[in-house]
Amino acid sequence: MATAVVEPRIRGFICTTAHPAGCASNVNAQIQVAQSARSVQAGQVGQKNGAGPLRVLVIGASTGYGLAARIAAGAMYEAGTVGVFFERESSGTRCGTPGFYNTAAYHRYATESGLVSANVNGDAYSHEIKQKTVELVASRLGQVDLVVYSLASPKRTDPDTGETYQSVLSPIGETYVGKTVDLNREVINEVTVEPATEEGIRGTVGVMGGDDLNLWCEALLDAGLLADGARIVPFSYIGPALTWPIYRSGTIGRAKEHLEQTTKAIDGRLRSSVGGRAMVSVNKAVITQASAAIPVVPLYISLLYRIMRERGLHEDPIHQMVRLFNDHIGPGRTPALDGEDRIRLDDLELVGPVQREIDSVWPTITTDNFRVLTDYDAYKRGFRQLFGFEVDGVAYDEPVELEAEI
Ligand code: NAD
Repeated sequence: MATAVVEPRIRGFICTTAHPAGCASNVNAQIQVAQSARSVQAGQVGQKNGAGPLRVLVIGASTGYGLAARIAAGAMYEAGTVGVFFERESSGTRCGTPGFYNTAAYHRYATESGLVSANVNGDAYSHEIKQKTVELVASRLGQVDLVVYSLASPKRTDPDTGETYQSVLSPIGETYVGKTVDLNREVINEVTVEPATEEGIRGTVGVMGGDDLNLWCEALLDAGLLADGARIVPFSYIGPALTWPIYRSGTIGRAKEHLEQTTKAIDGRLRSSVGGRAMVSVNKAVITQASAAIPVVPLYISLLYRIMRERGLHEDPIHQMVRLFNDHIGPGRTPALDGEDRIRLDDLELVGPVQREIDSVWPTITTDNFRVLTDYDAYKRGFRQLFGFEVDGVAYDEPVELEAEI
């Protein structure tokens, strides 16, 4: 037992503290969204063939899209889940990371609801953690019907060669000059990002490309853990032309293309081995720890959120994941794919009227007006909420238990 009053310690896109009760409250709110999505679609619990609850492995399960996918699977389908993530637990009076507290909250909900919930905390890129996961999936779930792959990391060590890759967020070929919000000083700046070196491109593909997904696929197939018809779904982003120089046409986009190509190859293997499918889901831009680190993106999201909210189109990760299951990969659903065999959950973000409004407002944004033209204050609050701060109903001035069980 160790209790403390936890305060936010934020610098730019980093917060070094996390509030356990605030994180738990966020997770509970997501569970409610998923549960109410379930009640409108009666009879969808369990697998298509009635063979028991859905069994899901989520790699990158503790924050952002992976956490939301786990919650949607559990709360909509009573799925048994194994979650893999890399988080720090509390030690003494030092709090754990948000993903640790999120997982503790999900785990509590799942066990109280009689759902299988098992966790692996460690480096998902290593053979050791893959092996641990394989053993846990075998013992707790038997096999899996679905694998969600949602890792976001700045570096990866290749477990076979020992080489450590570093990702960079850079344009390719040309210097990028664009508008961004300085999250420390809260001013609009022009940011200049030099083009990546070959090393930077290779490093980013080495981290966020498809090589690790391939290793996961091999480990699961070799151990016979993919059930008949199993699906593997990694996440990608495309976004609008406005962000292409820094995102889709940049180093991270190169890595996503590699991930998408790898997924196509895995799709072929799954079809022939277990009658399954692998397909990328292209998701919308949302506030997460990963997206906060990309230049331009926080300002773009601030504007996007304002416009999508006003048009009644707003979605957070949990709404996207509810839609992923309801429309594409839930039991009995047939995924609707684009010409590249991808699920497109970014359809509402990229719809013409939304992007035309972004294109017309973007050039006029300045330090004097960005709080009016964009939903920056909501972005800021959303960012703080990722760490459990500024969540309604949480008594921040009272000491809170820092230890948690996962
Ligand atoms: P996030 O930072 O919220 O989550 C990352 C997850 O990866 C966490 O669970 C973390 O613990 C885990 N992780 C990181 N390194 C790990 C390691 N070495 N071993 C085990 N676990 C590790 O990120 P996110 O924004 O939800 O991104 C998840 C995926 O969704 C990424 O592929 C990202 O490109 C994609 N995506 C994100 C957005 C967005 O706007 N955030 C949009 C579209 C697609």
